[in-house]
Amino acid sequence: MGNQEIIELSEQYLMPTYARFPVALVRGQGMRVWDADGRQYLDFLAGIAVCSLGHCHPRVTEAIRTQAETLLHVSNLYHIEPQARLARLLVEHTFADRAFFCNSGAEANEGAIKLARKYQKDRGERQRTEIVSATMSFHGRTLATLTATGQDKVKLGFDPLPTGFSYVPYDDVDALTEAVGEKTAAVLLEPLQGEGGIRVPSPGYLRQVRELCDARGALLIFDEVQTGVGRTGTFLACEQEDVAPDICSLAKGLGGGVAIGAILARETVAESFGPGTHATTFGGNPLAAAASLATVRTVLGEAILPHCRRMGEYLLEKLRSLAAENRAVVEVRGRGLLVGVELAEGYLAGPLVRELMDRGFLVGSAGERVLRLAPPLIVEREEIDALLAALEEVLGAL
Ligand SMILES: *Cc1c(COP(=O)(O)O)cnc(C)c1O
Repeated sequence: MGNQEIIELSEQYLMPTYARFPVALVRGQGMRVWDADGRQYLDFLAGIAVCSLGHCHPRVTEAIRTQAETLLHVSNLYHIEPQARLARLLVEHTFADRAFFCNSGAEANEGAIKLARKYQKDRGERQRTEIVSATMSFHGRTLATLTATGQDKVKLGFDPLPTGFSYVPYDDVDALTEAVGEKTAAVLLEPLQGEGGIRVPSPGYLRQVRELCDARGALLIFDEVQTGVGRTGTFLACEQEDVAPDICSLAKGLGGGVAIGAILARETVAESFGPGTHATTFGGNPLAAAASLATVRTVLGEAILPHCRRMGEYLLEKLRSLAAENRAVVEVRGRGLLVGVELAEGYLAGPLVRELMDRGFLVGSAGERVLRLAPPLIVEREEIDALLAALEEVLGAL
């Protein structure tokens, strides 16, 4: 089938939840993807920060192939070798002592919220049920996680929403100091806001949040669904601020393109998820765990993280000099290969994304006026140069 046929089929039979671009992508290799009419694109979005090793990375493909020939699924009623190995790998390279596997970012955050409440109950702190999160945050689309999300647009029409959530402005310690108290179970934050516009907090903010949580008896949950697994140049983004949470959620980049999420936690917190308290049928099944194990090993093992930092700096530097010469760009921000380009008032990201797509580049947006770049961590200088040339052209034509 060609683009048009696939689009017609898709529009007739799928629920109309997505405003999709009018192409069907059918094949990928490294930084490149092809649509159903054979057109090639350089992928600077990587399935929204998912395909961090590029499309069809040989190690990930091989792990999936081998596992598919061996065992796909058995349920968490039994021990699963790749799941246990993956948990060990994540524990050895993070603050955490234990992992729980699920299938998505929202599910990981939902579980993190449950774990925080349960932990407080187990300590006899029955009144500590509230989750404090930030405005402009994004934590997912389940009822609890859309409630935790500090943006009204995801909530419209879905009330009644669960209770026990409150919000403070991001990167504002004073507001948080005001909000965290006797009823707070946990503070839930992205170490760098993704969907909310690629917002990097001030240096020291996360550390102050950590100290506040410790002083007030609240847990600290980092939502690293988008920032985790090397995306910002370190395995977890919070490492760069030298701050560790009590609980952390992962998903997007964790499986190299296969759906898997994780909740990581310290031992004392993880204990509250005793037998029967929380579960999921598919979470960490042999196929997803094997794909993730290959992905995480590759991200940690080779030159991926230093390469991500180098390419991230190069991209930021290039974008900043472009911004200096172009009125349409007001700010460029990001860490590693999670980068936002904020457009001036009166400009919209949507049309720019379309223009770039017409020129063979896939990029995303984060909010109305921010272009989001989250290429595979294997992106090379020449590919960044090609994107920058196209972006300059497109901005020049505005
Ligand atoms: C994407 C995202 C989620 C939701 O993940 P899903 O897999 O879509 O449920 C949650 N938190 C953050 C920070 C995200 O970027």
